[in-house]
Amino acid sequence: MPSSYGLRPADTNSIMLAAELLRQGGLVAFPTETVYGLGAAACNPEAVARIFGVKQRPTFDPLIVHLAEATVVQEFAEVSPTAEKLMQAFWPGPLTVVLPKTKTIPDIVTAGLPNVALRVPAHPVALFLLRAANMPIAAPSANPFGRLSPTKAEHVMKYLGDKIDLVLDGGACERGLESTIVRLKDGQLEILRPGPVTPQQLEQVTGCPVVMPTGDKITAPGMLKSHYAPRTPLRIVDKITAGDVDPHKVALFFKQPTFDISNFAATRLLSAGGDLIVAAANLFSALHELDSMAAQEILAESVPETGLGIAIMNRLRKAAAK
Ligand code: AMP
Ligand code: MG
Repeated sequence: MPSSYGLRPADTNSIMLAAELLRQGGLVAFPTETVYGLGAAACNPEAVARIFGVKQRPTFDPLIVHLAEATVVQEFAEVSPTAEKLMQAFWPGPLTVVLPKTKTIPDIVTAGLPNVALRVPAHPVALFLLRAANMPIAAPSANPFGRLSPTKAEHVMKYLGDKIDLVLDGGACERGLESTIVRLKDGQLEILRPGPVTPQQLEQVTGCPVVMPTGDKITAPGMLKSHYAPRTPLRIVDKITAGDVDPHKVALFFKQPTFDISNFAATRLLSAGGDLIVAAANLFSALHELDSMAAQEILAESVPETGLGIAIMNRLRKAAAK
């Protein structure tokens, strides 16, 4: 067997190959609707250990386990009626639910925690792969720990191409932001990481109050202050103005600017019409491109902090944190 199959278009043959590599304990990167995942057989502790090695991810940082469908969830977790509602409403989709784990899930997956984070992704390639492999797949984002998440196969190749067995190319990720992570606690829903599923949607479906954890205690590495970060220093401003133009800097606009921006080293626009869904889908890709310009600074414009804007600003602040 070659040491790595490299990048392959996600056709039937390469998905079947990916499933076989996973069964043998290999590492395969695959597209989901959120970001590209780095997958390993969730119930094979050695394979899971390879994920931590390749990502240089601290072993206290637990992994999300991906399932082909909600009907198999009982094998891996204890499901409450509220969790049931969430799964029915949002799976397949960008919601990760943290639940008490069963013995089937090895401790290395959950970093020794009694809970496991579970999700059914809504991407045809991810679902085909999960069905073909016929087992749960542990898959964090396919990037080195702390760096920008990959939303295209080329991002994965740049970061990890020579370290993993196969990268399935399924094009750009539709959502472009990591899943919302939610935990049920004392009749409340606690958002461990904001994402595409908004607090309003969670409350509507469950009738439970939705809270963001307070205090400094980090219960998910999505809560680390610096994460999803470019190498170039990033600074957030309310609005980028004509006075900010600087040939040593690059700029990330939320909406179409109305002044001359040609003297920035480079610019990217998240959404011409100021649409948050479009902005989220473009965020990491734009940051990857701006980060590759070796500029002095990335100036990033704020987006309105409502709905999906909560998750976008969460990622920008982590990208800006030292
Ligand atoms: P990543 O896929 O690299 O973006 O990381 C997945 C996120 O899910 C991390 O922030 C993890 O901490 C979080 N996560 C995974 N399992 C658990 C768990 N059992 N409890 C709380 N958070 C979790
Ligand atoms: Mg990640």
